[in-house]
Amino acid sequence: MYKKVKGFRDIYGLESRYWQKVEKILKETFNSFNYQEFYLPVLEKTEVFNRGIGSTTDIVEKEMFAFEDRDGTHVALRPEGTASIVRAYVENKLYNPPATSKYYYIGPMFRRERPQKGRFRQFTQAGIEVFGSAGPAIDADVICILYKLAENLGIDKYVSMEINSIGCPECRPAYYEKLIDYFTDHKEELCEDCLRRLDKNPMRILDCKNPNCKTITKLAPVALDHLCDGCEEHFTGVKSYLDALEVPYNINPMMVRGLDYYVRTAFEMVTDKLGAQAAVGAGGRYDGLIKLLGGPEVPGIGFATGIDRIVALCMLDETEKENEIDAFVVSFKDISDKAAVKVVKLLRDAGISADMDYDFRKMKKQFSLADKNGARFTIVLGEDEMAKNTATVRDMESGGQEEIEISNINEYISDKLRRN
Ligand code: ATP
Ligand code: MG
Repeated sequence: MYKKVKGFRDIYGLESRYWQKVEKILKETFNSFNYQEFYLPVLEKTEVFNRGIGSTTDIVEKEMFAFEDRDGTHVALRPEGTASIVRAYVENKLYNPPATSKYYYIGPMFRRERPQKGRFRQFTQAGIEVFGSAGPAIDADVICILYKLAENLGIDKYVSMEINSIGCPECRPAYYEKLIDYFTDHKEELCEDCLRRLDKNPMRILDCKNPNCKTITKLAPVALDHLCDGCEEHFTGVKSYLDALEVPYNINPMMVRGLDYYVRTAFEMVTDKLGAQAAVGAGGRYDGLIKLLGGPEVPGIGFATGIDRIVALCMLDETEKENEIDAFVVSFKDISDKAAVKVVKLLRDAGISADMDYDFRKMKKQFSLADKNGARFTIVLGEDEMAKNTATVRDMESGGQEEIEISNINEYISDKLRRN
């Protein structure tokens, strides 16, 4: 018996139904904000991520599925979408002619982290990126999309939006100095990871999950109190647009992004319904990234959501059925088998989802198949009906049934479905 690889999983049955619904709503929402889908490769040269995510991040330090290909190329399964899409934007010179570009992507990501509930080694992200707009109006709009997703999915009651400003290369050096001074005074209490962060990436200490570090960070200086005038004004702008859009948010000065090219707006949509895994989606402004990956100086902002976690939130409300087809045709070998395949075709051609039992089992069994498939209508083609060229259509919701001429069956069902 073969077993799947640790941290990977199969998605089927009810979860797959929710998954399809979630993907559909995500795409509709992105489209309504005028975002275009970008299909990206799953494999990239490792250097794209080393550079684009940063060599001091957890992802690059210890979470990548990276290997040497037979021809010696160093490649990695993508751990996130942003570095790839920026690579593609620069490589395909999509900055010409200059314009604001809005893209979205949906697909699997791979990180070799410790598997646990809500945390997998292959998971799926849906994300957006905007290139060419420096905000603050676009920042608020991007945050608004993330919130709108939650609303459209019916999970807004389970989430809250946290926002912050983490400054820019102008105000950051002075702030880092204060931050490093503060943590140097508390060096003995920091965890091993944070000791390393102290030199390379001090802001990351603020979101360390280690309880000791958490206690110390409570009184640490935060970027929000050290913004330059430009960042201050930008953040005020973001908040006022969010207010205009009526997006509810909390300001969380502890929420950070650990890399230099992340500037100003940072945000996260969190939940307390999934145990230790609180983050449903996260994003921020990354004005330096496109240049870092060889492009011109174009500002960028985006977010990524975890579909596995979104689906888990949607599944807290039990509304989906495992399957739901419009019609199931019950028929009998040598009596109505040919009529059945024709009726099923007629229905499918009319956009009605339909199925039948191609093994022509006993009638009782076929009714239970109809039930198992969640059929709204069962259409019985018995001997009597065949003699009259009709079918008995039973509405499984109301229990009522009617005899309908076979040639009218598609219109009859379409009409009933429309009236629902
Ligand atoms: P976390 O704090 O949970 O590790 P992260 O900061 O690593 O999240 P991002 O890199 O910002 O996450 O990715 C965006 C979203 O992708 C997260 O908010 C989460 O919903 C989802 N996600 C990230 N890692 C995983 C994983 N291993 N399994 C499932 N979903 C994940
Ligand atoms: Mg992580």
